[in-house]
Amino acid sequence: MNKLRIGFFDFTGCEGCQLTVLNLEDEFLELLELVKIVEFREVMSGACERLDIAFVEGSICTPGEAERLRAIRAKATTLVALGACADTAGVNALGHFRDLRELRREIYGGEHPPALTDIPRPLNAIVPVDHRLPGCPIDGREFLAVLQALLLGQPPQLPTFSVCVE
Ligand code: SF4
Repeated sequence: MNKLRIGFFDFTGCEGCQLTVLNLEDEFLELLELVKIVEFREVMSGACERLDIAFVEGSICTPGEAERLRAIRAKATTLVALGACADTAGVNALGHFRDLRELRREIYGGEHPPALTDIPRPLNAIVPVDHRLPGCPIDGREFLAVLQALLLGQPPQLPTFSVCVE
């Protein structure tokens, strides 16, 4: 059986969503029976040419990140936004309420802080996103449910939660 080739990629975020995946431990190891992890900076080096599913964490805050995201999109059949930063720009979107020059100086110091785009953006502002897995961080069981559905060739169904109690 040909295993699906999957990869994990990160942009601006705290990496808590990737950590949630790694914390699945036994379930994560069982996954290796079904998939081949071809790129995952947190646990391995090297880059792949093609992959079936790209799980992408983090929001896009620099022109370089946008370029790298386009390259991931070009080599992935399916792209999943992993967590709130990727899905909605998450906590990084708080930067919208601050002067970016001042914020850059505050965080990085120095005369030449790194360039940021004017707005931290979710993935779907740059490339088409096939599926989303919200949460800050993501829920490990939901990650497994999404991956299982994709392995079966089905559209992932996320549970819906009501915030209102009747
Ligand atoms: Fe971290 Fe939350 Fe962003 Fe995930 S969504 S990378 S846990 S800040």
